[in-house]
Amino acid sequence: TEKLSNGDFTVVLQTTSNDELGELAASIQKLANDLHYMRQERSEFLASVAHELRTPLTFVKGYADIAKRSHISDDERTEYLSIIKEEVEHLTRLIQDLFTLAQMEQHTLTIEKEHVHLYDYLEKITAKLKPTLASKNMHIHIHCSSLLTASLDKVRFEQVLLNLLLNAYKYSNTDASISIILTQHHGQTVWRIEDQGVGIPEQDLPHLYDKFYRVDKSRTRSTGGTGLGLSIVKEIVELHGGTISIESQLHVGTTVTIALPTN
Ligand code: ADP
Repeated sequence: TEKLSNGDFTVVLQTTSNDELGELAASIQKLANDLHYMRQERSEFLASVAHELRTPLTFVKGYADIAKRSHISDDERTEYLSIIKEEVEHLTRLIQDLFTLAQMEQHTLTIEKEHVHLYDYLEKITAKLKPTLASKNMHIHIHCSSLLTASLDKVRFEQVLLNLLLNAYKYSNTDASISIILTQHHGQTVWRIEDQGVGIPEQDLPHLYDKFYRVDKSRTRSTGGTGLGLSIVKEIVELHGGTISIESQLHVGTTVTIALPTN
């Protein structure tokens, strides 16, 4: 303001004004870009949700039509019905993830911890994935003492595990295996989920938890996906007071490590 009184008033004011206008223009430009990016991101997200809904529905319709035919054997009918059931479960998981996204955005996602026997809990969850894994001849190995217990939200943490295990399945080739390794020390339960899949490029690692983020859209298009999984996983882990980290090596595999307070 001292300069303003020495005859350069207009010029200085002009400069200040230009600076402010320039800043304003730049932030409007940034807002416009962000908005454009968000719109694009939302519309890609909607397209992938629609795709994810349509694929299992196509299977359900197709197999229901075949199962209705009178000349097929009981064994065949049972097989088709179990495919239908698996696809319906896939749809249910997707819808649960969408609900969770809405709760995250409205800040209403809560957890209710209860006492859980971890080995039994893991056995039940992994059993649900057996038919899916069998389609790629994949297996899950559980390394967990039958004595371990912890406090966690059973339903929410199942969502975490299913998302991680299904990622391990989706991004692996046939015959690969997945290991779940549980250890407890210093009041923490550490969960490691290791796969032998395609891996994640280093530059993508920092973005994995962003909502809708997908490493390679062309790669994920064939495997399906919405880019929601890991953002939900991180939110639920943090609501439990825990942390998550992901290490990966291309063509070798990925390890997700979650540390939760045991109680
Ligand atoms: P998506 O629905 O696309 O699987 P996620 O949020 O679960 O969304 O994962 C984000 C991206 O991270 C995926 O698109 C995939 O490229 C990558 N990714 C996640 N888990 C793995 C894994 N175990 N192996 C390789 N890539 C993975």
